[in-house]
Amino acid sequence: MEKIKIGLIGLGTVGSGVLEMVSNNQAKISNITGRELVIKTIAVRNVAKHRSEVSDDIILTDNVDDIINDPEIKIAVEVMGGIDPAKEIITNLLNAHKHVVTANKDLIASHGDELARIARKNNADLVYEASVAGGIPILRTIVNSFAADEILEVKGIVNGTTNYILTQMQQKKWSYEDALKKAQELGFAESDPTNDVAGIDATYKMIILSQFSFGSHLALDDINIEGIQNIKLEDVAQAADFGYTIKLLGIAKRVGEGVFAEVAPVLVPSDHPLATIHNENNAVMVTGQAVGETLFYGPGAGGLPTANSVLSDIVSVTKNIALGTTGNTFNNYQHESEPIDKGDVIYPYYLSLQMLDVPGQILKVTKLMMEIGASFSQIVQTKANDTDARVIFITHAMSKKQLATLKAEIDKFDTIELRAAYKVLGE
Ligand code: NAP
Repeated sequence: MEKIKIGLIGLGTVGSGVLEMVSNNQAKISNITGRELVIKTIAVRNVAKHRSEVSDDIILTDNVDDIINDPEIKIAVEVMGGIDPAKEIITNLLNAHKHVVTANKDLIASHGDELARIARKNNADLVYEASVAGGIPILRTIVNSFAADEILEVKGIVNGTTNYILTQMQQKKWSYEDALKKAQELGFAESDPTNDVAGIDATYKMIILSQFSFGSHLALDDINIEGIQNIKLEDVAQAADFGYTIKLLGIAKRVGEGVFAEVAPVLVPSDHPLATIHNENNAVMVTGQAVGETLFYGPGAGGLPTANSVLSDIVSVTKNIALGTTGNTFNNYQHESEPIDKGDVIYPYYLSLQMLDVPGQILKVTKLMMEIGASFSQIVQTKANDTDARVIFITHAMSKKQLATLKAEIDKFDTIELRAAYKVLGE
């Protein structure tokens, strides 16, 4: 059987999973592709650290040129992460006519278009199923199964770390700080968790999902990003009392001829499927004009789940090599999006205010709401401390512009403080 030789760059969480899956599942892969997959070379930073993990018939090197310059290697798998030097390495691999499989969302979200052009020029495949939602096969599903349907909205939980933290806050009543510490102890959060908790990682994934769903080319600056760092236990509990669960959601939807995308904490109705996604799991809900709502659920990270997505890419590239059909862009849907006014996008909001517990304070907020043409659907008042009350409102749908005006006006009061404002899914 013809052999397809592979170069693996990175042997960490994902790389080790790829190595394990290629050796364990060879028979099935050969049966499907008619080719034998052979990992010829693995590049890492520290060869000594990995020597015992790699069998003697595989070349272990700290020099990626051993993969780039090897004419026998047809497919390179980049699972080292980061933008530099991964971008240069992938560029060199593509220019050396290697097909590239990567799990690198940071790189694809920031430089995917440029790399796709280099791939096309070299008749090479560049595929990255594992870059979004780890083990959930969502990108190829959008490419293939939604090819003819118009996608109206794609939203979901695409970061396992933040979902783990929010789940602990909700179920165990831990503070954000305690839940983050536990996530770090269990390896679900990095020692510097900023990329995850500030919503950056989820935003990279939403950029890629938006490209696949809407043919758009969003940049980080086009997306409103709000992380989970300021979520208070009191708001998680209050949301639950109202019948909601707070989740960090990525939302991208068509608005006219444009695309609105945002990553932010959102109150999800507790009986909504996304509210039932717990711990480090991910879920992506794709709404198509014809098909309606569909939900894809699974592990958003982890060695073997992510490796499974990498392997699905390797199998797909291997089939393309066998059929002589390489060089097609992973996602070739392009649609010129017009800029939209994000201020016009409407949602109901959860507003948590602390105010001096004297008559007339709620009236001040109610008057402001009337002035901006917005209204409340639910109100709850509790005691904050000896002098202050906590008043929580759920509003009817209002625009971001209305919310911005409300915030600015509330800021002018000495006796009222807006402590949290989160979107509410529904209505
Ligand atoms: P990781 O555990 O930190 O492993 C990174 C590997 O890359 C290590 O083996 C490291 O070598 C190697 N490496 C780093 N720089 C290198 C260089 N310049 N040359 C050669 N090798 C280099 O990372 P990971 O968690 O497997 O993640 C890999 C990629 O998959 C990232 O893009 C990540 O975003 C993506 N991803 C990960 C997951 C997940 O669950 N972990 C899920 C989805 C996507 P040493 O070991 O010698 O230092």
